Amino acid sequence: MEAKKPPLIEIKNITKSYDLGGATLEILKGITLTVEEGDFVAVMGPSGSGKSTLMHILGLFDRPSGGEYHIYGQDILSFNDEQTAFLRSKMIGFVFQQYNLLARLTSLENVMLPLIYSNGSDRADKAKELLGSVGLAERLNHHPNQLSGGQQQRVAIARALVNSPKIIFADEPTGNLSSSQAQEIMQILKDLNKKGISIILVTHEPAVAEWAARNIMIKDGQIISDVRKTPLAAADKEIPQIKKTKAGLSLAEIKENFLSAAKFVLINKARSFLTMLGIIIGVGSIIAMLAIGRGAQDSMAQRIKSLGADVVYIMPGLIQINGVSSNTPRKMTIEDAYALKANTDLVDKVDPMVSGSFLAEHNGKNTLTTITGASTAYEELQNATPVYGRFFTNKENDNMSKVCVLGQTVVNNIFGQENPIGQYVRIAGKRFLVVGVLPVKGATGFRDADDIIVVPVNTALKRLTGGIYISSAAIKVKNNKILEAEKFALLTMLSRYRLPVSQVDSFRTRNMADLVTMLETTTSTMTILLGVVACISLLVGGIGIMNIMLVSVSERTAEIGLRKAVGATKNSVLLQFLIEASGLSLTGGILGIIFGVIVSLAVSKVTGWTITVTVFSILLSVGFSAGVGVIFGFLPARKASQLSPIEALRYE
Ligand code: ADP
Ligand code: MG
Repeated sequence: MEAKKPPLIEIKNITKSYDLGGATLEILKGITLTVEEGDFVAVMGPSGSGKSTLMHILGLFDRPSGGEYHIYGQDILSFNDEQTAFLRSKMIGFVFQQYNLLARLTSLENVMLPLIYSNGSDRADKAKELLGSVGLAERLNHHPNQLSGGQQQRVAIARALVNSPKIIFADEPTGNLSSSQAQEIMQILKDLNKKGISIILVTHEPAVAEWAARNIMIKDGQIISDVRKTPLAAADKEIPQIKKTKAGLSLAEIKENFLSAAKFVLINKARSFLTMLGIIIGVGSIIAMLAIGRGAQDSMAQRIKSLGADVVYIMPGLIQINGVSSNTPRKMTIEDAYALKANTDLVDKVDPMVSGSFLAEHNGKNTLTTITGASTAYEELQNATPVYGRFFTNKENDNMSKVCVLGQTVVNNIFGQENPIGQYVRIAGKRFLVVGVLPVKGATGFRDADDIIVVPVNTALKRLTGGIYISSAAIKVKNNKILEAEKFALLTMLSRYRLPVSQVDSFRTRNMADLVTMLETTTSTMTILLGVVACISLLVGGIGIMNIMLVSVSERTAEIGLRKAVGATKNSVLLQFLIEASGLSLTGGILGIIFGVIVSLAVSKVTGWTITVTVFSILLSVGFSAGVGVIFGFLPARKASQLSPIEALRYE
């Protein structure tokens, strides 16, 4: 013998009560009802008798306080969230008393929505066809606020039909339609019923109840009569699959979540932008921090290369009295400098130098620049072989000739486009012949290394600075013996001036490593500062996002309820809000990258460093900002996903 097909719906002793300030309000007082496949039931009863409450329980938006609910013999109250969502989506179409359309979507999109959650195909075609069948073929792209109440309800009916459900619950579906439109809708429902779809509707109009095959009266939460008017046609024997087997979100759902998140962010532009501000500053700081740090490093490396790591400087310090520095500087002469050549193991070349600020003038244009007097060794020690013309010669130095080589900045400032070679520059009132132009060095720190004029040291002493004292001496060290050379230079000076070792601070030495450390300290301070700003901003930005997401969730509680009612799972709602949060923070991240690049360029302009924005720093920032969105968006998104459909639908 063939097994009997279980009924479509079987509820036993369903109760529903609300706790209202201690008193228990019993709404449904034990409803037992069986609905076979293909039935057409009209539920009637006075207002407040619990009809809608019953429909919400049947539609799986609400859970009963007690009793059993079986669909095709399966205990569906034991289903998990995803399985329940699957049932709502595949089995059930619901038509609400208040339409419940999403205001931001067009008619077409509203009707398509359940198909997204059921992973249906040909979504637009199906939706168009159904809208046509409820007489709205001309209203596909209208938004709910551009439709009459009756039209909105017809969109809602089309939406309920779009997944070809086994059963349609309709809570006063014709309440807002004119009687002729009501007839049309009932005809549609009747036709659907003829195709085997079961219908349960709530109505208070006897004319509507007339269409049904069975009339049920409810009063005070109890069925008081159940009358069949038309015999039930035999249904097919097949039982559809009602339990979802495959878990997870479909591509269409993920896409829908992206689009709806993007729409919401765009609709609230000002709010979204303010929310992103923290992230923008944070990410901007990360980008700038990495770019500036990197730029400083690069420029230091380049500087070391151009200056030579094997060059040590010695310069006079302050005279020490009882171990304390006085205000009076020591002095150093060319002879002192050349005395260092004595140690041929350590010292390769020595370049005595004297520097001062002077006004240089040509053809009425002048510039305040650094004049450095140096020997011909300068060319090699400073990597300063002229790009145009030549360096001055030993003979010119010996003769104290008034010749000079110019840095590029000086050329720009007083010659402009003119060729300076062979022309004269007036320094301290004396005419100097320009014999060469130095290669471009770029800026070091905040100083422009090309703002310089180099003249023979003897000429400088005789004609510019006066006297015999030099400012420093550059020593090219042999075999990388930097520390030995520094020690030797200091001891040589002490012995030449007959000073005890305790007076060692009378002279100072500097090598490239010292310079690098100095620069590194400045840049690392800057980097740490930017890092702190970045962290604080990202934290504040994250909190801002969390705050706005919480607002967004409560603003859209009704929307979340509707999405769940048409088949969205918890995970889908969670994803929708997570995408929105990380979308906000990612957009903030991208704006932050632009902001960071602008800041870096500005710093580059001031310091002359080549700023490098690396792919790494961009990926880091994007990762950071997306992470902030996900972490801080999680709480609000979870809150949204946990809402029960009926709580959410009742909200407002
Ligand atoms: P109707 O038969 O008119 O559709 P409902 O099922 O909507 O009636 O409501 C039945 C009763 O339940 C009403 O008296 C209503 O006030 C009450 N009710 C509905 N929802 C809640 C709730 N969340 N808390 C307390 N009472 C409720
Ligand atoms: Mg009602």
